[in-house]
Amino acid sequence: MGSIVQLPEHVSNQIAAGEVVGRPASVIKELIENSVDAESSEIVIVVVDAGRTLIQVVDNGKGMSEEDAKLCFKRHATSKISTADDLLSLVTKGFRGEALASISAVSHVELKTRETDSEMGTKVFLNGCDIGGVESVACPKGTQFAVKNLFFNVPARRNFLKSDQVEMRHIIDEFQRVAMAHPDLSFRLQSNGSDLFNLKPGSLRHRVVAIFGSKHDERLVPIEESTDVVKIYGFVGKPSFARRTRGEQFLFVNDRFIKHPLMHKAIMHAYEGVLSPGHFPLYTIFLEVDPKRIDVNIHPTKAEAKFQEDQAIFAILRSTIKRGLGKHNVAPSLDFDTELSISIDPLPSDKILGEPQVVINPDYNPFKSTRCSSGGTSNHSSERSMKSIVFGSGESEDKNPDEFFSANDSKEVRELIDATEAPKFLQYANRFIITSRQGNLLMIDARRAHQRILFEQYLSEGKGTAKETPQKLLFPEPVDLPKADTMLLVEVSEVLATYGLELEERVEGGVDIISVPNGLADKLHDCIDSVLEALRDGTWADEDGRREKLAGVWAKAASIPKSKKLTDEEMSSIIGRLFLCESPAVDPCGQSVLTVFDEGAIDDILG
Ligand code: ADP
Ligand code: MG
Repeated sequence: MGSIVQLPEHVSNQIAAGEVVGRPASVIKELIENSVDAESSEIVIVVVDAGRTLIQVVDNGKGMSEEDAKLCFKRHATSKISTADDLLSLVTKGFRGEALASISAVSHVELKTRETDSEMGTKVFLNGCDIGGVESVACPKGTQFAVKNLFFNVPARRNFLKSDQVEMRHIIDEFQRVAMAHPDLSFRLQSNGSDLFNLKPGSLRHRVVAIFGSKHDERLVPIEESTDVVKIYGFVGKPSFARRTRGEQFLFVNDRFIKHPLMHKAIMHAYEGVLSPGHFPLYTIFLEVDPKRIDVNIHPTKAEAKFQEDQAIFAILRSTIKRGLGKHNVAPSLDFDTELSISIDPLPSDKILGEPQVVINPDYNPFKSTRCSSGGTSNHSSERSMKSIVFGSGESEDKNPDEFFSANDSKEVRELIDATEAPKFLQYANRFIITSRQGNLLMIDARRAHQRILFEQYLSEGKGTAKETPQKLLFPEPVDLPKADTMLLVEVSEVLATYGLELEERVEGGVDIISVPNGLADKLHDCIDSVLEALRDGTWADEDGRREKLAGVWAKAASIPKSKKLTDEEMSSIIGRLFLCESPAVDPCGQSVLTVFDEGAIDDILG
């Protein structure tokens, strides 16, 4: 007897569900897309417990007949294509006929639907993949799906879901992608009884602003281009408003949200030379191409696409954005193909150029710290200048040594510093502190060391505020944020307050910053972006994990820059505090903080 069996439908559906339905957000995406395909003008989404308990999507579209209402849960049952050729002229979001079969395989689904010209509607409820009952009901025109107890029969997947905040974030992402693509439809998203979004029909600009917040209006630059290959329209953000997170980047092909690394690259190229490193511009860009010249059938969730004319579209997209930015005076636009050059003012003709001078302090002794220094004692001037050249002048150009270590070091730290015998330390390349300790030569990456120190400080009792008093702002500083980001941030506001960042949610959206940690006022927005990035990622296991992640992010944001001339005070403070840390050898990201050489190692190097 053969051992191959054809899997029963409910088993194959459950397997397929693994691809289509990864989390509550994917259910929402599929259901909203169906509502859009059904020509609805109003779509309401209700979620309870981030979709674990209930996901409900109600539309006023064309509805289904009783026959269709029973059939729609069958695998490969679709009204959107009937022949393979139809794939070449797709205008709908769905076409695989897989979503409802997959969703019903992993949840309890109920459907109510009525076609426009029918008097009565149909109610269908499912028992797994099987139809549990069909009734005739009075209901409004359109379709309502209620999906309950998602993954009730797939515990592994249910257990893998992240916190409600993270799942909600994914839901909002999917919601925004569809809502952005259809500004002419009204969309409403409710979570646990309160409205997160209530988007009225309007122009694309209205929609962008309604989703991202009113401040975005002034940050948008419109773009437009029409060629035989592609039609492009939408908005890109002014470079000065670019953020450290990629959150606000939307690319659509024929109104379908896609991820396309190559097109993203084209967009980033357009910003070359006008964007600070590590920053990402906002964009909402729509490409329209002939459906025959694009394949969206690569992945079941259809988030990828393949263009026939990749290269041409790349070039057109890039130059369209560049021109758009140029027109709005946010980037030079004359030449699209050469690197943007930095303009240098010509030298006045009466100015005579002299040779650059190297200034050396002949009295400098690199092995004396300023705390106990009283000028040099050696007479050997050539040796001294040699040292100055190799080791830098030792005197800090930075005249405010206490800028980042404003608090006095504890007695413990002082004792530790004093116990280290002279010579103490010097800085190399504005980055590394070189010192000796217990007969070893140490090279310490100052920034990583500082991150380790802050990280442990934040995690320890008192949580960082103990030493440095946060700077209360005279007027709360409003930070305009998308709703989803606001939710994430408010959720961790207590933890952030322990780092000195106090914030409050604003009624009109975004947050008000009440106080910032000392010395971080300038970096405030970057810090907030980094925190958001970490929160969206959501890869921690529990509350402690999250606290640790946040402390790491915050330590990174608050630490000294990669290159900074340090004063002797700062260096001694870093060394002293580093060695009081529990794990002085690695930074919060796990990178080495220091390297140690003993005599033997140096002998080996010297050979
Ligand atoms: P697809 O969207 O790929 O066709 P689905 O499984 O998502 O597959 O849906 C199956 C079919 O059910 C659709 O083709 C459509 O005919 C019908 N359907 C689903 N949702 C709706 C809705 N909200 N309104 C009207 N018909 C719907
Ligand atoms: Mg569908």
